[in-house]
Amino acid sequence: MSILSQFKMRKARHMLLGAERVFVLTGAGISVASGIPSFRGKDGLYNKPDFFQWAFPESHIQDPVGGWRAFEMARMAVGHAEPNPAHEALAAFARQHRVELFTQNVDGLHASSGESAKEIHGSLHRYRCQKSLCAYLEDAPRETESDLRYCPVCGTVLRHDVVLFGESVRFFTELREAVLSCDVVLLIGTSGVVTDTAMLARLAKSHGKKVVEVDPALFTRATCWTSVSVRENAESALPFLLS
Ligand SMILES: [Zn+2]
Repeated sequence: MSILSQFKMRKARHMLLGAERVFVLTGAGISVASGIPSFRGKDGLYNKPDFFQWAFPESHIQDPVGGWRAFEMARMAVGHAEPNPAHEALAAFARQHRVELFTQNVDGLHASSGESAKEIHGSLHRYRCQKSLCAYLEDAPRETESDLRYCPVCGTVLRHDVVLFGESVRFFTELREAVLSCDVVLLIGTSGVVTDTAMLARLAKSHGKKVVEVDPALFTRATCWTSVSVRENAESALPFLLS
C-alpha cells in the first residue's frame, strides 16, 4: 500500500472512531468477498440476458412461475454465503458506536453477521404478495428451495421481496434523516448508479458532515463530495478503519 493510501486510511479511521453518530450505506462491493454476484453491476445478474427479463415487475405478473424460479435460483446461490471480515468489522463497530446502517444488498449478510440493516432494495430471503395493496410478507425457508406460493390473505401469487426496476427504493425518508443526524457518512462498495450517492454525499457535505468512501474504483459518483476516499476492498479496509 502506498504512503498516500496509508495516510488516507489513517485519516478515515480517525474520523470514524471519533464520530458520535455514523451513517453507513453498503452496496455490492461489501459482499464480493463472500462470493455474491451483484445484481446491477458490470458482471451482475441483470447483465445476464436470461436473468435480465426478471428485473421488471411486469415479467413476474405475466409469468409468475418463471420469475419465481429465477429468483429462487439466485436465493439458493447466496444461501450458503457467509459474512466476510467487512461485515464482521461493521457489526462489531455498530455494537460499540451509534450507527445507522442501510444497505442496497438483498443477500441478508448484515443480519447473518449480527447487525440488522435497513434493506433499501428489499431481500431475497422474503416473499411478498404481488398485489401492491396487500402487505403480506413471509420469510423464505433458509436452506430449501420452494415452489411458487400463494398469498394466504388474498390468494394472489407471491414473489421475492426485491425492489425491481421502476419500483421505489425503500426507507428514503429515514435515509435522508439519518444522513442529516449523523456526523460522518460512510459509503462502502456502492457505485452510486442505483442510489444517488452523489446526492447523498453532497447533502451531507453541505450540512457540514464528513464523508468517507471505501471503494477500489478510482472514481465513483460520490467521489467529488468525499472528505476522504479509501481505494481499497471493503474486506481489507474495514477491519482497520473500524477498530
Ligand atoms: Zn395478498
